[in-house]
Amino acid sequence: MSSADPNFNNIRDRREPAVQGPKLVLPGENPAEGIQAGAVSSPPRLEMITTATGEWHSQRAESAPPPPLTFSLAASPSVPHTAGGGWVSPVLQMPANVPHMWIPTQRESRFRASRRRLEQIIDRLIDGTEAERPPRTVVVVAHPDDEAIGVGARLKSLPNALIVHVTDGAPRDPVYAQKKGFATREEYARARQEELAAALSLVGVGPERTRCLNVVDGEATDRLVELAYAMADLLDEFRPEVVLTHPYEGGHTDHDATAFAVHLACGMLRREGVPAPLVLEFTSYNFKDGERTVGEFIPFFGVDAKQADLPPELQMLKREMYDCFVSQKDCLSAFPVEREKFRPAPRYTFTKPPHRGPLLYERFSNLVSGEQWRDQARRALERLRAKRRTTKTLAAT
Ligand SMILES: [Zn+2]
Repeated sequence: MSSADPNFNNIRDRREPAVQGPKLVLPGENPAEGIQAGAVSSPPRLEMITTATGEWHSQRAESAPPPPLTFSLAASPSVPHTAGGGWVSPVLQMPANVPHMWIPTQRESRFRASRRRLEQIIDRLIDGTEAERPPRTVVVVAHPDDEAIGVGARLKSLPNALIVHVTDGAPRDPVYAQKKGFATREEYARARQEELAAALSLVGVGPERTRCLNVVDGEATDRLVELAYAMADLLDEFRPEVVLTHPYEGGHTDHDATAFAVHLACGMLRREGVPAPLVLEFTSYNFKDGERTVGEFIPFFGVDAKQADLPPELQMLKREMYDCFVSQKDCLSAFPVEREKFRPAPRYTFTKPPHRGPLLYERFSNLVSGEQWRDQARRALERLRAKRRTTKTLAAT
């Protein structure tokens, strides 16, 4: 691969110019155009599923339009999930009269901290003890079980961490639920919440420390703008030192959408002068070099990962967490329990591919291409640059 090739995130030079979007985007004459729910045209939805043989497949979900979104997490009290598992917050209602605002197009740095400071934070995350308190952390994942895969063993030592799930883990098409033995999508979602609650209870995380944005599994890409705003509100509310999330690596469209929302939310906060957390990453899965890879990052120029080798008792704990996700048993058997890896989040360009060659979600489906995902990201970036967050203003009135 040519180091001069500018088209891939993982070999991009840091001096590369920022993503160029319109200097000022006025999406139509209506201030709310393009930012309201449903305004974004959706590509075919993709869901990754695992068969009993461990093969990964994706299928097109029934393309029923998503329900209207409601916006504002920070102002919305959590309400108990009907499943009795995690807690959920009413998700995302975009205010109808969002004013325009000039937002500079230069890329916001996720690296305000020095390299040394980042290393110290990661050390505290990995080795934090009572004496050296681990950083106040918000973990943002796409699906129930991603937190166990990425940071399960460490959660026990993050006593104040908040765990945020973007989706409820159940695709819209009921065929996925039926394949898992559930009659409806709702039943499947409930089961996944209960599995999650059981897994999190092993590491001392109760429902008061979880939030779910209730996006349908596989549809986070359709809601990039709303998710970014919701994430900004949530991070503003909790003011963590660190937010831990997925890398942008083409493993799953929801993972990439989650990373997008976190990165854009932090940029939004900084523009407003609100303290934004450092963004760190845990591992998920990807298809770099034409091979499904779990538990490893796609290398990114200038960004080092730190590995936590887990002692036997934490390996066992992580395994027990996996075991709680009964409906995902086949999939989770592929993930290691011996280690967890973390790194500072690179400065991704979400309008470029995360790596050369087919992405994992493309490899197992021709329903959503990376190009379509990036087109969604491009349009979301344009809208986010043209609008400002209004939730706090609205909440105050
Ligand atoms: Zn996931």
